[in-house]
Amino acid sequence: MSFSELGLSDSILDALSERGYTKPTKIQTEAIPAILAGNDVLASAQTGSGKTAGFTLPILQLLADKSVKGPSSGRPPIRALILVPTRELAAQVEESVNIYGKNLTLTSMIMIGGVSLNPQIKRLRSRVDILIATPGRLLDHIAQKNVDLSQIKILVLDEADRMLDMGFIRDIKKILALLPQTRQSLLFSATFSKEIKSLAESFLNKPVLIET
Ligand code: AMP
Repeated sequence: MSFSELGLSDSILDALSERGYTKPTKIQTEAIPAILAGNDVLASAQTGSGKTAGFTLPILQLLADKSVKGPSSGRPPIRALILVPTRELAAQVEESVNIYGKNLTLTSMIMIGGVSLNPQIKRLRSRVDILIATPGRLLDHIAQKNVDLSQIKILVLDEADRMLDMGFIRDIKKILALLPQTRQSLLFSATFSKEIKSLAESFLNKPVLIET
């Protein structure tokens, strides 16, 4: 199996070959076509499995294929939200988005706690296609009405088990309640506790199951 057989565009394939990737990993082989086809996904994936590319590659492609213009006065809306448990993971996801999306015009932003709000508020005034956030800080911005999530088309919960271990379940539920109902949702977790299963059931719609 090659990346081109998974349905990825030339701009993305070029970025991958420049990066030296020759073959997709198992999770990429399964997740990329499922996500490109518009499905929700529930995936068990360990760090090191290549899961980050497994969701960032198809998200980049879906957003690039359906490029949107903003209203005449403003910028296009945020269309993808990736929730992560830690700042380190946020940085890794953003790096992947930048590397794989280098031939596209999409932009991303990291929104994490422990740093001041103001630079993030300023950044939100310019174009953000993909928002990579930790739940607590995202809720701070929501409370201050700094961020508009009404046009989110794709949601990812990355390392969902770690997010629950860190006590983010209530924050996650609050955020989920604020997102548009019509959207694609993806959940990645290394382990599947009862809690993860019930969270998955509460917001995924007929997910494709991927076990690695
Ligand atoms: P992840 O599991 O997403 O944290 O990825 C683990 C590491 O594998 C990262 O450093 C990626 O850059 C790398 N990687 C992901 N997919 C591939 C691939 N298909 N071929 C080679 N390396 C990859």
